[in-house]
Amino acid sequence: MDMNREELQEDRYARLRLIPWWDQKKLKSATVMVVGAGAIGNEILKNLALLGVGKILIVDMDHIENSNLSRAVLYREADEARPKAVVAAERINEINPEIAAIPLQGSIISQVGKGFFRHADLVLGGLDNREARLSINQKCWKTNTPWIDGAIEVFQGFARVFVPPQSACYECTMSQADYKLLNFRKSCSLLSRKEMMEGKVPTTPTTASVIAGVQVQEAVKLLHPDADLQPLTGKGFVFNGLSHDSYVVTYPRNEECYSHETWEPIVEVHRRSESTTLREMVEIIRERLNLKEAVLETDMEIAIEAHCICGDKESLFRPLMEVSLEDAICSECGEEREILMAHQFTGQEAYADMSLKEIGFPPGEIYQGRSGKEIVYMEMTSDIEKILDNKY
Ligand SMILES: [Zn+2]
Ligand SMILES: [Zn+2]
Repeated sequence: MDMNREELQEDRYARLRLIPWWDQKKLKSATVMVVGAGAIGNEILKNLALLGVGKILIVDMDHIENSNLSRAVLYREADEARPKAVVAAERINEINPEIAAIPLQGSIISQVGKGFFRHADLVLGGLDNREARLSINQKCWKTNTPWIDGAIEVFQGFARVFVPPQSACYECTMSQADYKLLNFRKSCSLLSRKEMMEGKVPTTPTTASVIAGVQVQEAVKLLHPDADLQPLTGKGFVFNGLSHDSYVVTYPRNEECYSHETWEPIVEVHRRSESTTLREMVEIIRERLNLKEAVLETDMEIAIEAHCICGDKESLFRPLMEVSLEDAICSECGEEREILMAHQFTGQEAYADMSLKEIGFPPGEIYQGRSGKEIVYMEMTSDIEKILDNKY
């Protein structure tokens, strides 16, 4: 880097550096995952880019629609039908060319391995459904990654901070009504479960910018752990844009909560999911544990095959989450087929010579290798390095 460029850099952040505890190096060296590039996500991303957060991973599965344009500062009319994650990454790179914005198009529940959470310093959520929040929460706890949730509806919203392993988590804040809704959705047929996740909430860009502003400010606090900035850990800022009687709530930690599982130690496996077979992965686990009968487990069901009473069979090989009712209907006889699924693998399966990717596991996944009570957590680290560092 030559002198001029360095001076220019000094310029960009000069006003921020006037803040006594501000440490631009901490922001530059941070990796932050943003889940959801909608109304809140756009505002989060804009703020992170302005502040010079060095590496920003943007996860979103959707494409830009016209109705996004009233609430999303990063999108233009000409972007219609393009992936949100990709366009958002391009635009925040324009806002600040010194950062690395990395798009990851896919569902946070089934297509982003837990290793990505472990490699992030923080996760920021701009989501509109409980399922995705719960999934982020569990992955953040397992990998010991703080996360900051944001939610908005019309002129109201909240921002809350969850820091594993000690604080209250998202699931601790769930009410009986939340559980009921979640269980109701889970018990529904495949298609309606998918449909219900697409519930639309009325939102405004003004509330989105307030809540995203608070979320990113909390992120800045967490990235300066030595500065005693009193982050909202285990608490929520409740914004009421009608009456302006906004306040802070403290969430009690529920010791019975199902989400408080921490996975450690996590072992890095320097392999890629697309070039490692299931059989090889089970072998790696057995070597590591030095136990011949160890198996590979995941916390996510993989749909292997659909069987029909008429005799028809079809390979699925994808997370069960991604199987719709349509997929389950037999094209031969119209009956609903039985879905064969698995979450435990011995390496002896008929498909054991398929790659982990082909079987339907997400990139960067952390697998559990188990033999009785003995357990080891194995992360597909090269998948993550390829996406985050553009390696290989
Ligand atoms: Zn909890
Ligand atoms: Zn059939």
